[in-house]
Amino acid sequence: MSSYPLQPIGIVESCFCEKFGIPRQPGLVAAAQGRLRLLPPFDQADTVRGIEQFSHLWLTFVFHQTAEQGWKPLIRPPKLGGNTRVGVFASRSTFRPNPIGLSVVELLEVDTTSGVCLTIGGLDLLDGTPVLDIKPYLPYADSLPQATGGYAPPAQRFIEQVSWTTQAQQALQQLSPDPSQDHALITALLQQDPRPGYQHTESERIYGMQLKVGNVRWRVLPQGAEVIDIEPPSLRLG
Ligand code: SAH
Repeated sequence: MSSYPLQPIGIVESCFCEKFGIPRQPGLVAAAQGRLRLLPPFDQADTVRGIEQFSHLWLTFVFHQTAEQGWKPLIRPPKLGGNTRVGVFASRSTFRPNPIGLSVVELLEVDTTSGVCLTIGGLDLLDGTPVLDIKPYLPYADSLPQATGGYAPPAQRFIEQVSWTTQAQQALQQLSPDPSQDHALITALLQQDPRPGYQHTESERIYGMQLKVGNVRWRVLPQGAEVIDIEPPSLRLG
């Protein structure tokens, strides 16, 4: 059998420090921004010449955090409540024979003053994700309005109202270099309702979500989600 050596061409710096809370696909949370820094020898202005003409990019990347866990032929998509199984190739599961992910991201800025750094938005990528390739998104070929989405229709759950305790607002002011951006990010992430499908009835539960800004503690009340507090990143466990 042939082997095809692959090497990362860049590394993602994102707001997400753990899997929990990351949107289920790209484009769901525009405020989820980050950077893609190219690695040598690809970090030269020539490799991205013309890229600024595209609004969106395809990234192929390695599911580096879960790659060692291997794969199974059947998986349980969260969209189906965790009980129904579908084939790995009928899913976007991260546990695949080749742990390769595919995401469309928005290209916000191209900086070639020192190496190559792309600012990207709408991420569903963990901090430190190794990127294998970048390709421009081509609307005439890649946008298929007639496509059907099978068991994965657009977001089924959306939390309209997200409230912040005074404590959480104060913590945000202290911890964030850009409080209004992080306020928008956290609000939009909670609106996606990151709780696992089978936990939406346990409203007493307090969840923690590790972002660059800190560990966001939140819960879901009958009237909507509530940001309880944000702990400094140094208090992260594990
Ligand atoms: N759009 C991609 C990823 C979909 S799965 C694709 O379809 O291939 C989305 C999940 O991938 C996120 O919720 C996050 O938990 C997980 N993820 C993102 N980056 C990862 C990484 N580097 N390693 C492991 N899992 C990752």
